[in-house]
Amino acid sequence: MGKKTLSRREFLSGSLAGLATAATAGLLAGCAGADNGETSAAGTGKETSAASTEKETAPEGKSVYIPGTYTGTATGLGAVTVTMTFSETAITDVIVDTSNETLELAINSASDFQSALMEAQSSEIDTISAATFTSDAVRKAAAQCIDQALGLAVKEEASASGNESGSAGYPSCEDLSGVNAATNQGDIAFVPEPIADSDIKETVSVDVLVCGQGPAGMAAALACAEKGLKVIALEKGSSPTWRSPTMGAFHDRIHRKFGVQFDTKQWLDDAMVNCAYRGEQAVYQKWIDTCDEAVDWFLDKLALNDDDYYLTFNAGDFPDFNAPYDELSLSRSWNTSINIPLVVEEIAATLQKRIVEAGAQVLFNTPVVQLVTEGDKVTGAIAKTDDGYIKYLTAKGVVLATGGYEFNPDKLNACCRPRDLALIGWMNGTKTNTGDGHEMAKAIGAMEDEYPHPLMLDPAQLMPYLRVNKRGLRFTAEYEAYNHLANAIQAQPGAFDYYIVDANCAEIVDKLWTPSSSCYGPKEVWIGAAMSPNAVTADTLEELARKMDVDPEAFTATIRRWNEMCDAGEDTDFHFPGSMMHKIDTAPFYATREMAEALCTAGGLQITPSSQVLDTDARPIAGLYAIGNVSGSMFSGTYPHNENCLSHSRCVTFGYNVAKTLAAL
Ligand SMILES: Cc1cc2nc3c(=O)[nH]c(=O)nc-3n(C[C@H](O)[C@H](O)[C@H](O)COP(=O)(O)OP(=O)(O)OC[C@H]3O[C@@H](n4cnc5c(N)ncnc54)[C@H](O)[C@@H]3O)c2cc1C
Repeated sequence: MGKKTLSRREFLSGSLAGLATAATAGLLAGCAGADNGETSAAGTGKETSAASTEKETAPEGKSVYIPGTYTGTATGLGAVTVTMTFSETAITDVIVDTSNETLELAINSASDFQSALMEAQSSEIDTISAATFTSDAVRKAAAQCIDQALGLAVKEEASASGNESGSAGYPSCEDLSGVNAATNQGDIAFVPEPIADSDIKETVSVDVLVCGQGPAGMAAALACAEKGLKVIALEKGSSPTWRSPTMGAFHDRIHRKFGVQFDTKQWLDDAMVNCAYRGEQAVYQKWIDTCDEAVDWFLDKLALNDDDYYLTFNAGDFPDFNAPYDELSLSRSWNTSINIPLVVEEIAATLQKRIVEAGAQVLFNTPVVQLVTEGDKVTGAIAKTDDGYIKYLTAKGVVLATGGYEFNPDKLNACCRPRDLALIGWMNGTKTNTGDGHEMAKAIGAMEDEYPHPLMLDPAQLMPYLRVNKRGLRFTAEYEAYNHLANAIQAQPGAFDYYIVDANCAEIVDKLWTPSSSCYGPKEVWIGAAMSPNAVTADTLEELARKMDVDPEAFTATIRRWNEMCDAGEDTDFHFPGSMMHKIDTAPFYATREMAEALCTAGGLQITPSSQVLDTDARPIAGLYAIGNVSGSMFSGTYPHNENCLSHSRCVTFGYNVAKTLAAL
């Protein structure tokens, strides 16, 4: 088997392509259906149902819009405004104002955007090359206009921006409206109203019901079936979920192969500091104590040759990197991650094969919608099928493995800070992740992690290029684990920064790496991003600063200071590793606007070390278990990327462990 890796961005391009786009696309598809006399609206979720209502009440081909002129605003490089005029059936006029943009091309593209919107009769227009941020903003602002014309404005504004609407409950120290990326609506499966017995088409008895087939649910289903338990696993989507071929542990057989020795107490110290001691230390300790056995079990299932595995840190440019952590960054970035020599689809397919071989049944397109209780105990769950509701009664327990709530804007706004949601976008393509497990459990008395919940965050650019904020100042050691760098970016005014390279970018990149980035695709990807048409370019630093809308004096002083420290070989300001410093002195210069990018939500149901879900009195709820991202008790403030690949590992480890717990009942 050859060595293969899948970069986050390779994943991203696939996942975004697969995303059913913004709510408005669904709406318009629904309306188009009305015009065409089609019977069903495209897309899912409440926006679509609103569109369906519109369709049902409007005579065919008529009265899609409330006639009038509407305005929408979103942030590109500056504020972008779109004003649209509607008749009952069409967009009749569009005015796009890009005059606040800092990029000349973007400013000059207003009439192109206008023509494209008129022609599309929708917000879904193509990106104008080299004006990505502006194109996104035009689409968002146009979508706002269309939503208003469809009579959905108030509701949509509330979901689109917790900051503006105040629905999050977290005030923000500055206006981050327009950069809040909590807008992708999935189809929520959770049914809050009790489902009557008369609506149940069939009742099935099992030992264990596993809800969800991501890494956590697959591990649990497989481990339970191997223990001889009668298992059914229900998955809301049409396929299993796996996102990156990596796995964390300490002294599993791959780390043993490379002779890496960890001080797990030191690792725990970092984990507890990362969560500000708000996580449950006993849950961390359980992971520490059991992850090696669980990961070795998991590797057995993949049945690959151990020679084909590398550690994430020694897989790329640093083949001898077998130290327990990277000592160059300010925080310790732990060498815990293993690279699995398969692409994600192969991992998921292999696990599915093993699950079925072990005797479990997996049903796709079968969302779990509600838990079943008897007194204080969970005794099963109800799933929705095309034929109606099916009740599963469980002799041992229900295992929630339903992932996060990345596609539930209301929940994101309610549970996360506006600044955490100030994103360039989501890398997560699992549109079925709408927090169903969180809500089903809360409905029967379970307790979530304290709010605000953190997100798993990356910087958009993974290489440690020099960074400045909008004041033209550096703000952190760019050489930091992803979550620390992403948090530092979000903490800047406007929640963005610029990363800066010069004409030598391709030459110096061989001297650069960043903790854990060596697994994420060839470095050419990161050079390409830094010199792409999205960058502003100039032959002088002053001109670059002006194009960035940054004070030229402050910016040139920052670069001068940086270059002096490069000559001295030491960054005494922020402690960037001296060996990787390179001067910014060769034109043309490039500056790319950057924000954090989100992977997953990282707050869930509070659990015991045995994954039993706790109620609001912190008592275990009999019969109910949570693993993976629907479970909590670990993260607060940040998801710790520097404790590399904890996430996949906790999914597999607690999935493996929960089978032991259930088998022993
Ligand atoms: C681009 C990307 C890269 C990543 N890279 C890494 C990495 O390198 N290392 C790492 O450790 N972590 C990584 N992560 C994070 C990691 O993938 C997640 O933390 C992990 O997938 C969580 O697993 P899970 O099983 O809890 O949830 P998920 O993988 O989200 O799976 C949940 C499943 O439950 C299903 N579901 C939802 N609701 C229902 C319902 N009502 N009924 C039935 N099924 C339901 C969903 O359809 C989904 O299939 C990455 C994430 C992303 C997005």
